[in-house]
Amino acid sequence: MRVAVISDIHANLHALESVLEAIAVDPPDRTWCLGDLVGYGPRPNEVVEIVRERTDLCLVGNHDLAALGRIDLDDFALDAAFSARWTQAALVDENRDYLAGLSPTAEADGAQLFHASPRDPVWEYVITEEAARDALERTESPVVLVGHSHLALAIAVLEGQLGGGLAPGGSEADLTAGRWLLNPGSVGQPRDGDPRAAWIELDLEAQRALFRRVDYPVERTQAEIRERELPEALAERLARGV
Ligand code: ZN
Repeated sequence: MRVAVISDIHANLHALESVLEAIAVDPPDRTWCLGDLVGYGPRPNEVVEIVRERTDLCLVGNHDLAALGRIDLDDFALDAAFSARWTQAALVDENRDYLAGLSPTAEADGAQLFHASPRDPVWEYVITEEAARDALERTESPVVLVGHSHLALAIAVLEGQLGGGLAPGGSEADLTAGRWLLNPGSVGQPRDGDPRAAWIELDLEAQRALFRRVDYPVERTQAEIRERELPEALAERLARGV
């Protein structure tokens, strides 16, 4: 079973299209999405429509819940709240209904999936050793998948010892020993200094995870952000991957 794991697309249509094109070169058996289809970016409806069609499993993220009016926007940073309000107005009913039917957690083919973390599937960033250890203690599957932080990560616990960390493009995790917490990074708003769109190729039989990156036309998404008068900082950060 080979799975493409994508996350945090954030209404960045060009990034999503580039990732799906790269995935299609050697099509996986499944495609899973860990949530945050919308928010920040300029093409929420197109992204939701493609995800509906192309993924076998999809979680809901905090930005999707914000777009549905289910999260208090006071909990959001200013740019995030602004784009959440814009997204609320832009989403058509069919796409809103799709997002409303999703959960922030799932289990599939022996893996456990969370948008954010097992302790708090909507909000918690697994970016500290304590949070990573807690996430692996609260789960039992060999592979645990999280998104939300927009950082590609491969963290393992082996005989009680925690190891690993950031997983740059092209790196591979050998999952044969220990239990693993993997974050594919973000398709549409990477924050690890590499502006390329990120995802994981996960082979559950061979027990390996390959961290992939692909260039996409950042300037097209930036132009769309500006056309829609979304905050300039949201366009600018895409070029730097922060
Ligand atoms: Zn996100």
